[in-house]
Order: sequence, then C-alpha cells, then structure tokens
Amino acid sequence: MICELVSKSLLRSGLFDYMVDCKEIAESAKPGQFIHVLCGADTFLRRPISICDTVQNRFVRFIFEVRGKGTHNLANAKAGETLDILGPLGNGFNVSFKNDIPDGDIVLLGGGIGVFPLLKLAKSLPKKPVVMLGFRDEATAVMTDEFASVSDSVFVASDDGSVGCKGFVTDILKSRIAAGNKIDRVYTCGPKPMMRIAAELCEENGIGCFISMEERMGCGVGACVTCTCTMKDGSRRRVCKEGPVFNGAEVDFDG
Ligand SMILES: Cc1cc2nc3c(=O)[nH]c(=O)nc-3n(C[C@H](O)[C@H](O)[C@H](O)COP(=O)(O)OP(=O)(O)OC[C@H]3O[C@@H](n4cnc5c(N)ncnc54)[C@H](O)[C@@H]3O)c2cc1C
Repeated sequence: MICELVSKSLLRSGLFDYMVDCKEIAESAKPGQFIHVLCGADTFLRRPISICDTVQNRFVRFIFEVRGKGTHNLANAKAGETLDILGPLGNGFNVSFKNDIPDGDIVLLGGGIGVFPLLKLAKSLPKKPVVMLGFRDEATAVMTDEFASVSDSVFVASDDGSVGCKGFVTDILKSRIAAGNKIDRVYTCGPKPMMRIAAELCEENGIGCFISMEERMGCGVGACVTCTCTMKDGSRRRVCKEGPVFNGAEVDFDG
C-alpha cells in the first residue's frame, strides 16, 4: 500500500509516533499484527513495526525507535509524504475466551518498545485489562496515561525506580499472583528475558500466556525463513507468519 503520513510526532528523543492513512490495513488489522515498511531506497529490506492502534477504520498508528539505518531513514519522512507499507502481517493476539467475559484479570505486560502493540490489544479485549509496564527509567517511560485510559489499572516498574516501583515489571505479576489475584490470561511483548519469566510464571500457575516474539526479519511474509524461533517440540516457526504471537508455553527460550 502507498499510504500518506498524516501526522508525525516525537514522543521522546529518538521515538516517533506516526499515523498513516491506510483504510485497507486499518479495516482488517488485528491486535498484535505488524506492518512491513520500506525505509528508503538504500535499505533493500523492509522493517517490521507493530500496529499500535487503528483509528476510524482508516488510519494506522505505529511508534518506532530509531535503531539503525532503516528507522533513521523512516524518521526523516515528512507529514504529507507517502510510505510504502505491506500489511497487516502475521498472526496477532487471540482475544477470545471460553467464557465470553473471563472472571479473572486479563494482564498486559509490556517492556520498553514492546508496549506499543498492547494499546490496540487493550481496546480489543472483552473487559478492561490490568496493565503492567516496564521501562529503563522515567525518561524512557511512555504512554502510561494512554494505557490508563483503556485499562482497569496500570502498574509501572523501572530499573532505577525513577518511575513506578523499582525492579522488573515481572515482579509486579509475581506479587499479584502471590497475593491471590485471579488471572485468566497474560499477554506480553518486550525483551525476551521478561517474556520468558512471564511465560514460566504463567505455566507454574496454570495461566494462559501469549507472547509476541521479535526476530530479525527478511521478507515478512514467510518465504525467506530468516526469522524462525524454536518451539519446545523442536520445530521451528516463522515469527512473520506463524507469529509474531505464540503460545508462551510452547516457545523454547533457549532454542
Ligand atoms: C514483529 C516485529 C514488530 C516490531 N515492532 C516494533 C515497534 O512497534 N517499534 C519499534 O521501535 N521497533 C519494532 N520492531 C523492531 C524494529 O523492526 C527494528 O528496530 C528495526 O527493524 C531496526 O531497523 P534499522 O534499520 O533501524 O536497524 P538495523 O541497522 O537493522 O539494526 C540496528 C540495531 O537494531 C537491532 N535490531 C534490528 N532489528 C531488530 C529486531 N527485529 N529485533 C531486535 N533487534 C533488532 C540490531 O541488532 C541492531 O543493533 C519490531 C520488530 C518485529 C520483528
């Protein structure tokens, strides 16, 4: 799709919030899916970015951090210019439950740039989730107010304690489980060590867990098999096609 960049803002240094006009993607996007963005003529491969939100079935919002050449080029796009975008791609979060509305909490656990796909997810669930967000420090903490507006409650943790409580965001999940809070399902996206702890906690406590994996990606549509991750049964699955969302109990984090 060739989509107009209708708005662009800087959330913090090196972190850009983009909205593109793309009815076709907005209408069919599911939470957890991603777009594959062409980032200038000198970067041959597209770059995968999660769909953060969709607005009025017409606009697609995505937020990205400048890491290398591709995202640097993307950050130079100006409002009114067009972007070449493939999407929506991948297998998103499963938002259906056995009981239409689950009794226990639905927890969204995000870390760093992994928080972005959780916004659309929060809006797509049968009830407001409990959101747990982890950041390095206050300077890198983003979207806490936006999450507050779509959730039952928001807990924040940071490595240095400059925002929220000091420690890992998974400590919040651990203490809520220990306190006897009933949790039906955990959805998580962020650094692998964080998702691994979440998946293990969920498995030990009989809680369903969906995780969104991030791997270096080539084609984004399942053909090049660059982005595979290993499952506990020894099989390899493509993050771009069978993922990025997987059942946390099935992923082999040592694979
Ligand atoms: C499904 C999916 C969804 C994503 N969603 C987002 C998002 O919403 N917002 C966001 O900011 N980023 C997201 N990313 C990561 C983003 O795709 C990379 O940061 C981007 O491709 C880097 O490209 P570059 O050319 O700027 O950097 P490169 O020059 O390619 O790399 C620069 C640095 O980034 C690291 N890097 C590059 N790609 C990845 C990757 N896929 N995983 C981990 N590290 C990587 C490299 O190790 C290197 O150190 C997502 C990745 C995937 C697979």
